[in-house]
Amino acid sequence: MLRPFKNEPLTDFNIDENRIRMEEALTKVESQLGKEYPIIIDGEELFLNDKFSSRNPADVNQIIGTFQKAGVEEGKKAVEVAYKNFDKWSNLPYEERAMILIRAASILRHRKFEFAAWQVFEVGKNWAEADGDVAEAIDYLEFYAREMLRYGKGGSLTPMEGEYNELIYLPIGPVAVIPPWNFPLAILLGMTTAALVSGNTVVLKPASDAPAIGFGFYKLMEEAGLPKGVLQYVTGPGSTCGDAIVSHPKTRMIAFTGSKEIGLRINEIASKVQPGQIWIKRVIAEMGGKDLIIVDNEYPQIEDAVKAVLASAFGYQGQKCSAGSRAIVVEDVYDKFVSILSEKVKGIEVGMPKDNYFMGPVINESSKNKILQYIEIGKQESKLLYGGEEIKGTGFFIQPTIFVDVPPEARIAQEEIFGPVLAVIKAKDFDDALRIANSTIYGLTGSVFTLNREKISKAKKELYVGNMYINRKCTGALVDVHPFGGFNMSGTDSKAGGRDYLLLFMQAKSISEKYV
Ligand code: NDP
Repeated sequence: MLRPFKNEPLTDFNIDENRIRMEEALTKVESQLGKEYPIIIDGEELFLNDKFSSRNPADVNQIIGTFQKAGVEEGKKAVEVAYKNFDKWSNLPYEERAMILIRAASILRHRKFEFAAWQVFEVGKNWAEADGDVAEAIDYLEFYAREMLRYGKGGSLTPMEGEYNELIYLPIGPVAVIPPWNFPLAILLGMTTAALVSGNTVVLKPASDAPAIGFGFYKLMEEAGLPKGVLQYVTGPGSTCGDAIVSHPKTRMIAFTGSKEIGLRINEIASKVQPGQIWIKRVIAEMGGKDLIIVDNEYPQIEDAVKAVLASAFGYQGQKCSAGSRAIVVEDVYDKFVSILSEKVKGIEVGMPKDNYFMGPVINESSKNKILQYIEIGKQESKLLYGGEEIKGTGFFIQPTIFVDVPPEARIAQEEIFGPVLAVIKAKDFDDALRIANSTIYGLTGSVFTLNREKISKAKKELYVGNMYINRKCTGALVDVHPFGGFNMSGTDSKAGGRDYLLLFMQAKSISEKYV
């Protein structure tokens, strides 16, 4: 019997011992950078002719590692192996599968600092952001293991006289897991271990900006006792290798988290039945957002609202799907809000993640260029309050940037920028703020700052987002506390870290036996 699930505590880096352990982990990981890594199919390590490098976005001369550029052939082979090994893995008792996750959680807990340090180097997270990602990963392991123990007992049914009835949950087949780089351990691990613990085999194709963290996860699962051939680790471009995995007739399901463009493409490709395919592919696609914070005139602590807006907009450089990129402020308090915001943003420092600055680099050059283009668009559409410049140096640094008096229909108020750019929009009143909030194609996260219960009640009904928060920031969802997933073009609302999640990786079989 396992103790009830509880969330992994975050590390307090103000405590000397924790700070020292993180510094040691950073030194250790830095000494391991620059190695070459294989792809792994059926437990076999393979090296290919084509390769690519992962680099530190804060210091582009620092190579994190060299990785194999798998193509169509390797993608296909990985799916075939996952199909071949499905029977054996799915027949392992569910309790055994759950215990592998529990062991992985224990190993990860012991190496928390090291796993966090890899994120500091590979994706430019500051210490707290990296630590938060690792804590979330531990939570997924602990939570999904417990969830499988619950589902393994079967579903409850209405008894019928003269019959013995059961509802059992079965795994579905090979699952392609395609994660983004921005929560390089938590999201990758969450989708993969949900599939595995449910009894499915997996082809994991990590994002090309975070393959080293994916490799660390593979090794973690191996150490925790995952049999060879259950999980395939295949690095390479989404457009070739990824497409081959998604379109393969033996792929049963695709668990994707990433941009709207790629999610829709995957959904379209997966919907086409290939020769030899005997099922309808299941697709989970969790996608982008244009998340918001409404600040109402009936919230007296404007300074607290400003702090929440800054944390939501600029935490991890605005590169969270939940990042609050729109502040929608009711006009009575608009000027006060903007004046406090313009003072407080000056306190945000940008620097090397290794040295634990609040803000670090954006992920890569094309992302930097895209964000700078949006900043130019913003200058045409509204008024620049703060920032707006690239910070030249060894990596891809951009100032925290705020535009004010942004029209709700402006591109910078409608399109996901995925960088440190905040649009401040004036609303006539609370109803107008809700209308503006709901005016994009997305529906992921949204916060409402007000003390008026009627307005809160209205927002609960009308604010069309998958994750709504009241009087707090719109980032930082916790496993089984705030199950996560969005509406409309933000995705399929799969609610990762929630109690319905494993069902998406299983199918229910109803069995009825007549007494004779
Ligand atoms: P992308 O959509 O660019 O990439 C996501 C994954 O898809 C990567 O592994 C990528 O591989 C792969 N991929 C790319 N093309 C294909 C293809 N044709 N077939 C199969 N796979 C493919 O997203 P990012 O990694 O840039 O992540 C940022 C986005 O993710 C943002 O829009 C953000 O909002 C969203 N996101 C959503 C979350 C949610 O829960 N709703 C959570 C976190 C992020 P490669 O890297 O090789 O191109």
